[in-house]
Amino acid sequence: MKSSQAGQTLGKRLLRILGNAGGYLLGLAILGVLGVLGSETVRTMPDHAIVLVDTQAHVYHGIPNADVCGDESMSLMTAREARDLGYEPCPRCREDGLFAGRTCSAIRALAEDYLRFPRGRERWNDDGTWNW
Ligand SMILES: [Zn+2]
Repeated sequence: MKSSQAGQTLGKRLLRILGNAGGYLLGLAILGVLGVLGSETVRTMPDHAIVLVDTQAHVYHGIPNADVCGDESMSLMTAREARDLGYEPCPRCREDGLFAGRTCSAIRALAEDYLRFPRGRERWNDDGTWNW
């Protein structure tokens, strides 16, 4: 009799602890999701962006740096073509931030990508030219 009462009390206590832990974990999960959705995300350069390709150095440059990185021997292609051909982003252009798009919250990025939410001003136009 006594031991079953003790068992019930222990069981109730365990349930209470688990219930609290469940609520705590749920709260943490909600905070985590909100944190991820509210975090800042940087849009990456789209595949259709036009880049300047240096076949000698095997890198591609951002168009705004054409006067410092480029010369007449280089050719234009889309970022996707350049990446598919194994070209690497130019370290200087990358350092200058040329391959990073605008920054927005993760939830906005999701809304733009999947809900056709109106986009902010992009750094690249639909035809791949640069908006700088
Ligand atoms: Zn460059």
